[in-house]
Amino acid sequence: MPALTDLSTIRSLCDRYGFSLSKGFGQNFIINPGVCPRIAESAGIGPDWGVLEIGPGIGVLTEQLAKRAAKVVSVEIDRRLFPLLDETLAGYGNVKIVEGDVLKVDLRALIRQEFAGRPVAVCANLPYYITSPILMRLLEERLPVENITVMVQREAAQRLCAPPGTRQAGAISYAVAYYASPRQLFTVQPGSFYPAPKVTSAVIRLDVRKTPAGDLDPAAERALFAVIRAAFSQRRKTAANGISAGLAADKAAVLAAMADAGLDARLRPEQLTLEQFTALQAALAARGIPARK
Ligand code: SAM
Repeated sequence: MPALTDLSTIRSLCDRYGFSLSKGFGQNFIINPGVCPRIAESAGIGPDWGVLEIGPGIGVLTEQLAKRAAKVVSVEIDRRLFPLLDETLAGYGNVKIVEGDVLKVDLRALIRQEFAGRPVAVCANLPYYITSPILMRLLEERLPVENITVMVQREAAQRLCAPPGTRQAGAISYAVAYYASPRQLFTVQPGSFYPAPKVTSAVIRLDVRKTPAGDLDPAAERALFAVIRAAFSQRRKTAANGISAGLAADKAAVLAAMADAGLDARLRPEQLTLEQFTALQAALAARGIPARK
């Protein structure tokens, strides 16, 4: 099989199968031959590992993963790609393509069935239109995976890896820091893709914590992230304003909870650390916020 990064190979595959790329599914395929081996290496995959890939496209990253892992399972939403993948991955007996929307597939069951007993990594050049929902799903469900190595837009990479309590942090930075230890690895220019996207991309790796930072019970965890999302709902305002608006809570009660947690009422959401949000959530709960329905 000629190199899958070769533009004439891609065009001829698409022509032969009558395939046209879908913008709606975020289809930008990697054509820089250096990128996929680098992503696959960065995932730290051992020969006995299982890899869950999201969106194989025509299989350019899948191939690099299959060379390094015991087994690769790739979830692809666009079934028009299946005949192309049959051809491009014919030489790899350790790859299984699963049809489905990664936001809906039962990933826990899939991992159990396909990778029983193996260390598992998630690796992908993500469809950018659903970067946050995919990562939130992978983290919140506490799937049994060692790490998540993915290509995303550079701005998303910066936000996802920003330490809580710093200017670039957003609500999602707190979730990432809670469940994982994140790192930005390298950037990838638009010309490395076909078709070229408008933005620069970056590869990040999230090493999933065995025990989340804070280790709250599921209800407290949901409440913590509801408070964080509310605080960031009005980014230019104070955390108290956001929480009061986002949780439909009395402003005076929110300010009292801030004081209980030892926090200055003027703090903006991105100035709070994860520990401070955790203390604030406990203080809010003690005052009945959010109100039970
Ligand atoms: N891995 C290939 C590469 O690097 O060249 C393709 C990456 S492309 C950016 C994203 C892939 O995700 C496409 O194959 C697209 O069809 C697939 N995709 C988009 N939405 C998806 C979803 N909800 N579930 C599973 N796959 C999806």
